[in-house]
Amino acid sequence: MLGIYPSPVQRLDKLSQPGCEVWVKRDDLTHGLYGGNKVRKLELLLAQARTQGARRLVTIGAVGSHHVLATAVHGTRAGFDVAAILSPQPFSPDIIPNLRAGLAAGLHPIPCPHTARVPLAVVTNLRRGDYFIAPGGSNVQGALGYAAAAVELGEQVRRRDLPEPEIIVVALGSGGTAAGLVAGLTLWGSRTRVVAVRVVPWPLVSRSSTVALAHAALRYIGGTATLMDLSRRLEIDNLQLGNGYGHATVEGALAIQEAASLGLHLDATYTGKAFACALRRIAGKKYGTVLFWNTLSSAPMAPLLVNAPEEHAIEPSLRKLWGGSTSRAAAASRAA
Ligand SMILES: *Cc1c(COP(=O)(O)O)cnc(C)c1O
Repeated sequence: MLGIYPSPVQRLDKLSQPGCEVWVKRDDLTHGLYGGNKVRKLELLLAQARTQGARRLVTIGAVGSHHVLATAVHGTRAGFDVAAILSPQPFSPDIIPNLRAGLAAGLHPIPCPHTARVPLAVVTNLRRGDYFIAPGGSNVQGALGYAAAAVELGEQVRRRDLPEPEIIVVALGSGGTAAGLVAGLTLWGSRTRVVAVRVVPWPLVSRSSTVALAHAALRYIGGTATLMDLSRRLEIDNLQLGNGYGHATVEGALAIQEAASLGLHLDATYTGKAFACALRRIAGKKYGTVLFWNTLSSAPMAPLLVNAPEEHAIEPSLRKLWGGSTSRAAAASRAA
């Protein structure tokens, strides 16, 4: 097993009120070196790669993505070579440390300056014997990691570690996390619904793609439910996307501050937006128990940055992917 399970659940006392309990599922703690939601997906993905006798993992992601870093860290530790086709994204403070840490882990970066050409880059770079990991690790195997997580939550509910949530609030990136949760909740017959907070524009991820993935994951493990049943369990929240993937929002920034005061470290791309949605849902007082699912690693970055190339030593073809600005230049422009 790659990760540490079950991940803890905690009551957020400061946000809980009579009639509305607020809890957090600490998937930030799934691994001591690099945690977050990608660890659960990599459980099955790495196992399948091994079964197929692959030597190299090839994946895709925006430059500095958590998925690419998680694949680099855990894939190389499992003995694979790891290559990733990296596409552009707007500058955010996590990009540079995530990329540096990936390179330190041994990642082979393949920069792809135009997102539209990523599929072509995949075809031209895949070799016989490679194991391809879908963006965000969101294929059936990856989603099954989150079906298992939903079952794990069911055990925590049964042990009365927490009340059965009315809703789970979680970020919707490539959709594997939300889809797996929907499948797993259906499997244990929970009443819980999933509010998936869109951070990637339609149609890169959609209700139908997420429901279809949940359906495929559930069928893979022998469960049955109609697309309609699965769809009823899933709500997509479209109110937090702002200017798009990787673009911070004011509401997300405020949610990150609020979370920090509760001892939770969140990011602008995924978890800040998801938590902003959770705060709105809590303020609306419509739900008995709200569970915020934290998908961002909270492991310290310092150990991953030992032996990492300095920022100025990163190749220009990679730097261009976030507009070429350095963290210092970006900080200065923010301060100006
Ligand atoms: C990848 C990621 C998500 C989104 O998960 P999906 O399964 O791609 O929808 C959420 N939060 C963080 C921190 C991530 O890295």
